Amino acid sequence: MIEKFEVLKRLQSLKNRINELEASQERRKRDVQEKKVQIENEKSLADKKHEEKIAVQKEIDRKELDLNTNEGEVTKYNVQLNSIKTNKEYSALVSEIGSKKADMSILEDEILNTMSRLEIANQDYEKATECLRNEEESLKDLINSVDAEIKETDNEIEKIKNEQKKYIDLLDEHSLKHYNRLSNIKGGKAVVPVIGNVCGGCFMNVTTQTLNELMGGDDLVFCLSCSRILYLDDK
Ligand SMILES: [Zn+2]
Repeated sequence: MIEKFEVLKRLQSLKNRINELEASQERRKRDVQEKKVQIENEKSLADKKHEEKIAVQKEIDRKELDLNTNEGEVTKYNVQLNSIKTNKEYSALVSEIGSKKADMSILEDEILNTMSRLEIANQDYEKATECLRNEEESLKDLINSVDAEIKETDNEIEKIKNEQKKYIDLLDEHSLKHYNRLSNIKGGKAVVPVIGNVCGGCFMNVTTQTLNELMGGDDLVFCLSCSRILYLDDK
């Protein structure tokens, strides 16, 4: 017949194992959450790059429209030059044409500069979307592997729970009640060894009476300081 504290010890180690597995599941779920947040950031960055690119393109469109308007006016003025009667009107119009042409030359330079900016904005946008695509791919992989891990861990937990039941059936109601109470409040260490007269849970000396109780009988013995269930470590 297996001793009571031995059963409790095994229950404790099974329970600790379940806690570990559940904690690792939580960690993996957090990894997925973190990756999702990261992708949201990449996505808003790509959106921002897209807006920048559209804004630069609009700037070019506006400038080209201005250029066309000026061009139209210069053509119109050139036609008007043929029908002008006075020298004064003629030179006024020539000077107007000169000023329009100067404006056009400035606009042309600006358009060239803005086009270089558009090229950079396009590259930035491509880079951001490429990065986003890669992150989304790696999220898919991560979700797949985390799902598989969680499923595997669930199976393992299920197996451990069945094994727990086997041990619980070996315990009387009294012992099980103590175990449940302690394992919930003592951070997974409800059953601890006494090593060199010291409780392995709170490291206080145990009394001679406690030691005597441990050596005789097979009733549960509790630490007087921390009330954990004690057993004698043979080592
Ligand atoms: Zn103790």
